[in-house]
Amino acid sequence: QIGNGPTAEVPEWKKIATGRGELGKRTNMSIKDQRESLPAYKMRKQFLEAVHQYQLLIVVGDTGSGKTTQLTQYLAEDGFADAGVIGCTQPRRVAAMSVAARVADEVGCRVGEEVGYTIRFEDKTSDSTRIKYMTDGIMQREILLDPELNRYSVIMLDEAHERTIATDVLFGLLKKTLKRRPDMKLIVTSATLDADKFSSYFNSCPILTIPGRTYPVEIMYSREPESDYLDAALTTVMQIHLTEPPGDILLFLTGKEEIDTSAEILYERMKALGPAVPELMILPIYGALPSEIASRIFEPAPEGTRKVVIATNIAETSITIDGIYFVVDPGFVKQTAYDAKLGMDRLQVTPISQAQAKQRAGRAGRTGPGKCFRLYTESAFQSEMLPTTIPEIQRQNLANTILMLKAMGINDLLGFDFMDPPPTNTMLTALEELYALSALDEEGLLTRLGRRMADFPMEPSLAKSLIMSIELGCSDEMLSIVAMISAVQTVFHRPKDKQQQADAKKAKFHDAAGDHLTLLNVYQGWKLAGKNDPWCFENFIQPKSMRRAEDVRKQLIQILERHKLRILSCGRDTTRVRQALCSGFFRNSARKDPTEGYKTLVESTPVYLHPSSSLFGKQAEHVIYHSLVETTREYMHNVSVIEPKWLVEAAPTFFRVAGEKGGLSERKKRERIEPLFNRFVGEDEWRLSSQRRQG
Ligand code: ADP
Ligand code: MG
Repeated sequence: QIGNGPTAEVPEWKKIATGRGELGKRTNMSIKDQRESLPAYKMRKQFLEAVHQYQLLIVVGDTGSGKTTQLTQYLAEDGFADAGVIGCTQPRRVAAMSVAARVADEVGCRVGEEVGYTIRFEDKTSDSTRIKYMTDGIMQREILLDPELNRYSVIMLDEAHERTIATDVLFGLLKKTLKRRPDMKLIVTSATLDADKFSSYFNSCPILTIPGRTYPVEIMYSREPESDYLDAALTTVMQIHLTEPPGDILLFLTGKEEIDTSAEILYERMKALGPAVPELMILPIYGALPSEIASRIFEPAPEGTRKVVIATNIAETSITIDGIYFVVDPGFVKQTAYDAKLGMDRLQVTPISQAQAKQRAGRAGRTGPGKCFRLYTESAFQSEMLPTTIPEIQRQNLANTILMLKAMGINDLLGFDFMDPPPTNTMLTALEELYALSALDEEGLLTRLGRRMADFPMEPSLAKSLIMSIELGCSDEMLSIVAMISAVQTVFHRPKDKQQQADAKKAKFHDAAGDHLTLLNVYQGWKLAGKNDPWCFENFIQPKSMRRAEDVRKQLIQILERHKLRILSCGRDTTRVRQALCSGFFRNSARKDPTEGYKTLVESTPVYLHPSSSLFGKQAEHVIYHSLVETTREYMHNVSVIEPKWLVEAAPTFFRVAGEKGGLSERKKRERIEPLFNRFVGEDEWRLSSQRRQG
């Protein structure tokens, strides 16, 4: 018999627990046994007692102890699902999806029934959903719509140690909600031991600790610093595979491209060794991976083989893979951080913190004694790594967050109850950005436009472009472009062995005005062809990505309709589309440099066209771009040709009338912006932050 949760305490809810138990069968252990073998199970009774007794509870437990998958089920089994939905937030989309799948499996339902998840642009829940996993960003949006969260009986803020901006903001927001909802419970879970800090922030609430069940992990350091950590990582993986006893390997890399490339190289190197060596299954896992592939990482490797999971830091705490005995840790992570020179967030590869290194190593000691190979020296660990990671809120752009808080009527940002307040300067930059976008007025209050922007689940610049496209009569076109940009990283399929063919097909969609309109051409071509898959294969377009874009587009239309905003087509007059883009992305403007590449108008930072851009090799003088991607150089991503005068029209507070230089007037900016700042930060702080700027 499989999957009959713990003993019959709450029969009502248990009726749905029929448990198909796919995974249970494979590991010869019923789902019930698996659930009961988790460390969280021993604390079940205490946990439920504590939840009944206190409104707020912190739960600390090692990764893999069952916090995410079990606590929600205990609550449901105990009757909390009858009073409302049990909501559980995750910092990462993949975690929300994968955990919901697992819990649905344990409960014995399909995802979207009793157990579901919601991530941006994807809602897999229904009226019968009692346990709902969601990203912390989604929870934030729900508070915007209903500050009292009346649908929920319990909220679990999971993975609080990750300290994402959204989770940090939720700390403050939910504290307020609890005051208005004495019947609601809040559980904050963390995998690390900074629980005391959490507890003192949350009104000295009790802390429940799930005792760990970990084995020792032997730590190995590189003797010399590695000059090429990728190569070192792959060599180490092969060495482990060929010389160490059985046990799976977990390798931490920084992102999709790196992981895909390494997986390929590793595959080739293994193949070169011939059939005499045992098989090594190579399994990548990162945020953008489709869920059906992602779930393969949990399957045990067949007898006589070994698996290596190549993961981003998603496998640090959000996802637990059983059977890992070896961890290879190059010591890097890709993080977004605000880049003042570019005036925007940028993904950067940076060294991890000591806390992250310890967490990574710990992944090797869950099933038995393990080994962790650190591809850096011990002295680098001691002297070059920060003890803990800096919370996102202290290093990222806050425009999105501030817009959301303002839309909730929270105007006193400096007085907001942050666990670790963001630096004043970061807040000022965000306020300035929202002011330039006309989302805030000179008093720093939300404008009508700003309120509207907050309703679109996307970065403020994109929301603004979409809203302005209505005024410019090209919202039909802009919807397609925004959907294509928001839905997927790329719709173009470029297989290694058919690159030239793929490029030739892509060139047919190229628009002289740039990549945004190229995306529009693809969308319209797909629509004209009846949205069919053969058309996609013929044109090297990924059908799945197109369907996802279409789905996003539909959801955006719903938001427009809710606001009674019109969907208008500009026909061939696509100039207006680019003007609308300027209204949101004026900061991301660049001018051709006489010698090489481009220079941004705002800070004169060198940036480049990527060879895959439809403008590559053309002589566009002024351009705007959607984002920057740093590989060997700072590449602009999604670039369109513009006329500089559009920038002045789009952001008169930001750009002066384009003269010969066509640049930004610092004086003018200050003049307009200063009164706005003064309202927020008292004289002294403003002086301080403006000095910091000059310095
Ligand atoms: P925590 O939140 O404390 O880190 P989890 O509840 O995520 O722990 O994990 C508990 C157990 O469930 C782990 O042993 C993990 O391997 C297993 N598990 C989680 N998700 C899946 C999945 N999708 N497939 C198989 N096992 C899973
Ligand atoms: Mg968890």
